[in-house]
Amino acid sequence: MRRWNGWGDDATDYPLPESAGEYLAGKVGRGSTAPDASLEQLLRSVPASRLPDDSRWSVQPQDRLLHACGQSLPDWVGLHTGRLPAFPDAVAYARSEEDVRSMLALCRQRNAALIPYGGGTSVVGHINPLPGGPPTVTLDLSDLRRLLSLDETNRVAVFEAGVCGPELEQDLSARGYTLGHFPQSFEFSTLGGWIATRSCGQQSYYYGRIEALFAGGHLETPAGAIDLPDLPASAAGPDLRQVLLGSEGRLGILTRASVRVRPRPETEAFYGIFFHDWASGAQAVREIAQSALPVSMLRLSDAQETETTLVLAGKPDLTRWADRGLRLAGFRHERSLLILGITGERRRARETLGHARSICRRHGGLPPIAMIGRLWQKSRFRSPYLRNTLWTSGYALDTVETALPWTKALPAALAIQQSLHRSFEAHNERPLVFTHLSHIYTDGASVYTTFLFRRAPDPEATLAAWRAAKQAVSRTIVESGGTISHQHGVGLDHAPYLQAEKSAAGLSLLRAACLAMDPDGMLNPGKLVGP
Ligand SMILES: Cc1cc2nc3c(=O)[nH]c(=O)nc-3n(C[C@H](O)[C@H](O)[C@H](O)COP(=O)(O)OP(=O)(O)OC[C@H]3O[C@@H](n4cnc5c(N)ncnc54)[C@H](O)[C@@H]3O)c2cc1C
Repeated sequence: MRRWNGWGDDATDYPLPESAGEYLAGKVGRGSTAPDASLEQLLRSVPASRLPDDSRWSVQPQDRLLHACGQSLPDWVGLHTGRLPAFPDAVAYARSEEDVRSMLALCRQRNAALIPYGGGTSVVGHINPLPGGPPTVTLDLSDLRRLLSLDETNRVAVFEAGVCGPELEQDLSARGYTLGHFPQSFEFSTLGGWIATRSCGQQSYYYGRIEALFAGGHLETPAGAIDLPDLPASAAGPDLRQVLLGSEGRLGILTRASVRVRPRPETEAFYGIFFHDWASGAQAVREIAQSALPVSMLRLSDAQETETTLVLAGKPDLTRWADRGLRLAGFRHERSLLILGITGERRRARETLGHARSICRRHGGLPPIAMIGRLWQKSRFRSPYLRNTLWTSGYALDTVETALPWTKALPAALAIQQSLHRSFEAHNERPLVFTHLSHIYTDGASVYTTFLFRRAPDPEATLAAWRAAKQAVSRTIVESGGTISHQHGVGLDHAPYLQAEKSAAGLSLLRAACLAMDPDGMLNPGKLVGP
């Protein structure tokens, strides 16, 4: 069963290796392990609904609690300590397009806000009702999950938008196809959520981001329905698919989507490649991207992330063995680990690996190690479970991410790290901060930074430290010339920084689009472009 106050299925655990516990205590100190609030305590904190009982929705506290937030750090603190600031007044479950239409009409009639809810994996406050806001209905779309058609000539599949990653891939795999969209939240996030947040999968270098995979769909809005035909391309004015991508539930509710699929690849493999330092690794991945080599993934960790990954992997013998070997080969503390993915036709994959290996060698990289790649592959969707264990061990963890041109990427990464350190130091904390280049493009890269710090005995103190750090680092991202989000979207947390990227006039254009589709402002108020 899915955890109600943490990540993932409660049958899956990621225990913290003993040596990793000692490592973290040495780096950041020991955090508070105050026990969590119980489900019963949380349920008692749910206020009476402001909406009447109705057979078309549930006003039960449990439904409302389970749809009150996503997976951001404030959401975690709220869920674990019983301090969630707002709950939906009702939760409805759509089983058909007609259900979506009638819920839009009902909410309009009752002056209620409506929040489209996919898998609830947002990390930036996309699905949280606004404290003090209007009565709110959360519309859970996860029952809209059928594969409606697969056209093998056009290689386009049509799914209902609430389908989650594993179900979508299972349906396609049974017919020999794949979408290839694998965000780390794959287990629970949905097709509609991916489109509404412009999500990016781990192998987007090969399969494309969701923007490249989304071919068309059907949107229900308060102003009427929009059908977006799946055309391979169009010069007929601005592409409405691009307007819908990243609209975060503000323009309407996507009920079905056509996606571009591919036959399942003949081969898929991942490798670990060590570089002497992050900068030389970055030169290698830039060269690979700019040579248009058909790799599927390039993920380059800085020295701190390289060390932390090996420590948290919980394989002390392997780590010692690797450390000894690397030292003998002259790789010191600054070493940086690249995870290289190669997907596709067998012969081409072999050639690609050969080319990538020689580029890496030119930049001082060691030969690719398949075992490290296999370990990464095995834990690619398991790593988020570590957040549960870290929390119970006294640590809070969050991430920030951006994308920038190559000329700015590494200096920005350094500035982001410094800003996190400075901010936590002002709260007498020493955070553990590490970064990787997560997605690589010909003209730049995304920079993904993780920070871990001690939970304070008082949850308000944990939140205050987080808030200050989030503000500082968001300002640094903007000042460094990066986007406020490469893949997590805007939601509530990033909304104050959107104008820096869109300009005031651009933001008015987006607001006008929301108003045109939703004249009463009932759809997901406060998110993306503010109220
Ligand atoms: C552990 C973890 C790892 C993650 N890794 C990644 C990653 O690798 N890449 C990445 O891109 N993101 C990642 N995320 C962020 C998150 O998973 C994505 O933003 C995801 O796309 C959200 O999908 P969802 O179905 O859970 O949407 P939700 O969280 O339910 O909703 C997100 C937004 O989409 C809107 N929405 C949802 N469905 C619809 C619909 N049918 N019509 C209109 N609007 C809709 C909602 O109103 C809301 O504004 C991660 C999150 C977690 C917790």
